[in-house]
Amino acid sequence: MIIVMRPHAVEAELEGVTALIASLRLSAHISKGAERTIVGVVGAPNDKETLLAQFAGLDGVEAVVPISKSFKLVSREAKRERSIVRVKPGVSFGGTTLAVCAGPCSVESREQLEITAEAVSRAGANVLRGGAFKPRTSPYAFQGLGEEGLKFLREAADQHGLVVATEVLDVRDVELVSRYADILQVGARNMQNFTLLREVGGARVPVLLKRGIAATIDEWLMAAEYVYGAGNHDIVLCERGIRSYDQQTRNLLDLSAVPVVQELTHLPIIVDPSHGTGVRALVTPMSLAAVAGGADGLMVEVHPNPAAAFSDGPQSLTLAMFGELMARVGPVAEAVGRTLPEAATAAA
Ligand code: PEP
Ligand code: MN
Repeated sequence: MIIVMRPHAVEAELEGVTALIASLRLSAHISKGAERTIVGVVGAPNDKETLLAQFAGLDGVEAVVPISKSFKLVSREAKRERSIVRVKPGVSFGGTTLAVCAGPCSVESREQLEITAEAVSRAGANVLRGGAFKPRTSPYAFQGLGEEGLKFLREAADQHGLVVATEVLDVRDVELVSRYADILQVGARNMQNFTLLREVGGARVPVLLKRGIAATIDEWLMAAEYVYGAGNHDIVLCERGIRSYDQQTRNLLDLSAVPVVQELTHLPIIVDPSHGTGVRALVTPMSLAAVAGGADGLMVEVHPNPAAAFSDGPQSLTLAMFGELMARVGPVAEAVGRTLPEAATAAA
C-alpha cells in the first residue's frame, strides 16, 4: 500500500508512520516530492483491512491507497506522474526531450570509439553505448575488453559531450563499472539475476533494465521493483524484442510494450530496434515507429565498419545511416510532441 502524507506533514508525523511500519515488520520506501511525501509499504501483512484503517488514523496521513498489482513501488498506482530519470544536464529519460543512445555493440578499440562518438554526437545522440563486458552465447566469442574498454568509453564520451551507458554483467563488477559509466545497463540475459538487480539497486548511477529474452511485462516490472526497492529509483526500461518463432528477424520487437508499460508504471521506457530486429534495414523504420508510439528514447547500434564488427555487425548501422535515421526521427518526434536531444557537440 501507499501512504500519502498531507502537504504540510511534519517530520514527527512521518516518523509515526515509519515506526508503525517497522513494528509490523514491513518495509518503508519514502519518496519526498516537492508537494508531499509518499511512503510505500511493502510486505505481507496478515489483516490488510485493519492495517489500512490503522495507517489512515495516524496524524499527518492524508490517504492510504492499497495497490492491487504485484509490482508496487514502480506502479502508476504508487506514483501517478511519469518519472524523469535525469542523468546529466541535457540528458534525461522521460521528459519531452528524447534520449538517444548510440554506439557499437562491443567496445573494440580507442579509435573505433572515437570515430563513433564523434559521428553519433554530431548526428544528435546524447548517450554513447558500447559493451566492455559482453554476454555472449558462445564462450569462444569475443567477451569484451573489460576495464580498458570502460576507459575508452569514458574518454570518447567526454571528448564529445556524451554520457556513457554500458552493461554490467556481474555483481563483482558493479563498483568498477559505476566508476566509469553514467548509466548501468542490465542486459536481457540478466533481467532476472536477482542478486545483480539488488546490487545495481545500491549503485548511485541510473540503471537501464532491458527486457528479458522471454520475459513477460509483469516479470520485467518485478525486476524493476527489485532495483527500486533496493534504493535506486533511477530506472529506465528498454524493450529489445522477445524470442519468437519467426526466422526473418532475430527477435520480435514488441512495440505494444511501450504503451502497456506506460500504463502500468511511472518509469520511462526506450526501444532498442537493433537487438529487437537483428536486421540493419529494419532499424530505422522501427525507430520511427517506436518514437511515434510514445517511446522516451532509442538505443541503436552503430559501427564505423559493421562488416568488421566483433559482434552484432548485421544489425549495426553505418555512421552515415545513423545520421539519416536521426534526420528522419526529428519530424516524427515533433509530430508526437517530443524533441530530439540538443546537439551534444554544441554543448561540449
Ligand atoms: C547489447 O546491448 O549489446 C546487448 C547485449 O543487449 P541485450 O541484453 O538486449 O541482448
Ligand atoms: Mn549487441
